[in-house]
Amino acid sequence: MKDNYRHQGKRKQLVETVRAKGIKDEKVLTAIGKIPRHWFMDSSFEDHAYQDKAFPIAADQTISQPYTVAFQTELLAVEKGDHILEIGTGSGYQTAVLCELGAKVFSIERQQELYKKTKLFLSKIGYRPKYMAFGDGYKGLPDYAPFDKVIVTAGAPFVPKPLLAQLKVGGKLVIPVGENVQVMTLYTRTSAKSFEKKEFGEFRFVPLLEDKN
Ligand code: SAH
Repeated sequence: MKDNYRHQGKRKQLVETVRAKGIKDEKVLTAIGKIPRHWFMDSSFEDHAYQDKAFPIAADQTISQPYTVAFQTELLAVEKGDHILEIGTGSGYQTAVLCELGAKVFSIERQQELYKKTKLFLSKIGYRPKYMAFGDGYKGLPDYAPFDKVIVTAGAPFVPKPLLAQLKVGGKLVIPVGENVQVMTLYTRTSAKSFEKKEFGEFRFVPLLEDKN
């Protein structure tokens, strides 16, 4: 897989675009500047990789807009060694950003085709999430809990209780909540029984789908 000067130049521009839209966390911007986003998309759509927009990938899903990835990651305030649960592996781009920040990533995807493809792909390009699961994100990963951070990368009609339950005290959950339009919501667990909630404007995601089984 190639990553030439043209790709690198466009990526620098993308970083400046994302910065201009208000992202301040230099570690997040560095990660976006480093990861070849065009590798996460079909090569015939390479020209779209460094525009700040979402794009269709396999199985009717999308790779999130770079600004959205940066925004959610900034809200998470990732620290090296954090155990982070990601719901919706998709292309693996967000997973790679979290790995780049030194997190131990646990990621769940409910589309088998994507789960298999992305697992293989990430290891091929040198990203090693701690654990990748084919399953239902609404349930989280109780066997690997508690987590320092949880990030949901699909639009959730409501906040799944298990995701809050699987947070450490002091931990954060970033989740877009809503049916057609989602409000980016940050929950911080302030004690065993209490959570603080903050809202951060509207976004549009593909839906977090419920398991039919
Ligand atoms: N983080 C991804 C975003 C992919 S879009 C990226 O950067 O590319 C959201 C993903 O969530 C899709 O791949 C979709 O299949 C997955 N998804 C939807 N409902 C889910 C569920 N209940 N559990 C796990 N994954 C789910």
